[in-house]
Amino acid sequence: MKRAICPGSFDPVTLGHIDIFQRAAGIFDEVYIGVFNNIRKKPLLAVEERMDLLAQSVSHLGNVKVISFDGLLADYMLEHDIEVIVRGLRSVTDYEYEQGQAQIIKAMHPELDTMFLLGRPEYNSFSSSVVREIIRFGGDCSRLVSDNVYKYLKSKI
Ligand code: ADP
Repeated sequence: MKRAICPGSFDPVTLGHIDIFQRAAGIFDEVYIGVFNNIRKKPLLAVEERMDLLAQSVSHLGNVKVISFDGLLADYMLEHDIEVIVRGLRSVTDYEYEQGQAQIIKAMHPELDTMFLLGRPEYNSFSSSVVREIIRFGGDCSRLVSDNVYKYLKSKI
């Protein structure tokens, strides 16, 4: 059984994230979506809301499950027999950050690996922070997120 985890804040999940989940689900036997429960900044959505929206967004993928964790990602992976972290890359800026993260994890836990999937160009400018900005100013983010997420965000304004 090859397991992978896609970690992130997902505040909220965007179409760019969902594309990465779908592709990871086609490569691994089981994919965990790991929601960080320790964002320093005040999030737009509570962790339970983020998890509900994620679960709705991946309900068509039978081998994907949504979890949250508080501690270190590597500890969660070792406890749950997950060997690979899957991260989406949009740009060189993403790469520079991710390279450091991947190398730290590799140095500490040689048995764990990080795999990068290049984001689709049409989603490359999408980010949770752009969605939050649009929502704060009452704009229309319907092209950046799935229908269920869009409806939920509108109901919160
Ligand atoms: P963070 O908690 O680091 O802010 P996010 O929740 O924004 O993370 O994103 C989680 C992962 O999804 C990261 O690997 C990020 O690079 C990737 N990602 C975010 N948006 C996109 C996108 N539009 N296309 C591909 N990958 C993306």
